[in-house]
Amino acid sequence: MKVSVITLGCKVNQYESQAMLSQLTSAGFCACDTEEESDVVLINSCTVTAMSDHKVRQTLHRARRKNPDAVIVLTGCMPQAFPEAAEELHDADIVLGNSNRSSLLPDILKYLSSRQRIVDIVPHEKAAGFEAMNVSRFYERTRAFIKIEDGCNRFCSYCIIPYARGRVRSKPMDELKKEIGEIAANGYREVVLTGINLSAYGQEIGMHLCDAVEAACAPKSIARVRLGSLEPEQLSEDVIARLSRQKKLCAQFHLSLQSGCDETLRRMNRHYNTDEYRTIVKNLRAAFQNAAITTDIMVGFPGETEEEFQKSLDFAKEIGFAKVHVFAYSRRPGTKANDAPGQITQAVKEQRSRRMIEVTQKTKEDFFTRQIGLTEPVLFERECEKGVYEGYTENYTPVKTHSGESLSGRIVPVKITQALNDFCIGER
Ligand code: SF4
Repeated sequence: MKVSVITLGCKVNQYESQAMLSQLTSAGFCACDTEEESDVVLINSCTVTAMSDHKVRQTLHRARRKNPDAVIVLTGCMPQAFPEAAEELHDADIVLGNSNRSSLLPDILKYLSSRQRIVDIVPHEKAAGFEAMNVSRFYERTRAFIKIEDGCNRFCSYCIIPYARGRVRSKPMDELKKEIGEIAANGYREVVLTGINLSAYGQEIGMHLCDAVEAACAPKSIARVRLGSLEPEQLSEDVIARLSRQKKLCAQFHLSLQSGCDETLRRMNRHYNTDEYRTIVKNLRAAFQNAAITTDIMVGFPGETEEEFQKSLDFAKEIGFAKVHVFAYSRRPGTKANDAPGQITQAVKEQRSRRMIEVTQKTKEDFFTRQIGLTEPVLFERECEKGVYEGYTENYTPVKTHSGESLSGRIVPVKITQALNDFCIGER
């Protein structure tokens, strides 16, 4: 039987899709690239914004249209957070949440024998442990993602994730070391540690993110370790000092900001203010040479006045981010902010997004310009056009260079000679 996987959403979803695919291929299924040729189509969904839900519906319809006979499985955060709505999506033959991925294979086999629609969404249990998942190979990827943490206990007022993902659960250290060993043995030079609230790793098992970083840096053949999105307030001076002792840790920190205005941060139930954020950035830049600070900024949060937005804009300019994901606030049913007064109009959200993107595109270009003249090791990912290879430096600067030989999968020192809008040019 042929199976194809469509992944929507974050690095954790990408990891889980890989793990589910491995679960099925080790049971005799064959991985397939297209819905048309598949017997089973697996859609791993995201529900972080209203647009994500819209994409889930679109993806389902398209898969059903392209392959009316396929067994379509809808899984992931959307059914877990909104089970009733997911049950209504009849293009899916099997609807599975994200708390019991081990049911995937039994549910598919059950459906194939009964042809009875299956809705198998199990609520997250408070005391649930980390669902064992192991990935040793990533198809068509140069770097390997490792999911080490799931769930979140934060309940930021706009966020649906704690409802979709449950409470913090961490991968036991022995499982993590085994997985890193297998990934190293399969020739990956870079691993990316990821989680739903990565900074919370280990808090319920007496471990800490630093322990996971040290474990990931241990294998000789692993050259680089990168961290997924982080919550600022976990990065104390001690933690930064301990992390800086790991020479393989990439100097790129995605430090989720959300707003550069303290009043807005308070209404978001974020656990830091702009002064604390500024200090963490200063400490990271002092501890890691040529560090890149990247982030997420939300515009149009309920009650955000023009004055508050201006503060957020000025703060983004002051910090000088290397890259910013700008997105407009999206109402999520069940979250506190969904019912908050002062909802912002779509027109104002779009206008503020444009202004924030304009400012942060400039800070990105300024960061790229500061790379000119530096010689940096680049992990090349692919040949993007004939004789031109693209990859990333340790601080995640995208670099393109000419080469007569293949550079894919190799780490090669490159001198940065030019900075363009979205990448740099380098010479060997
Ligand atoms: S820290 Fe906040 S924004 Fe991040 S997943 Fe948890 S609740 Fe959502």
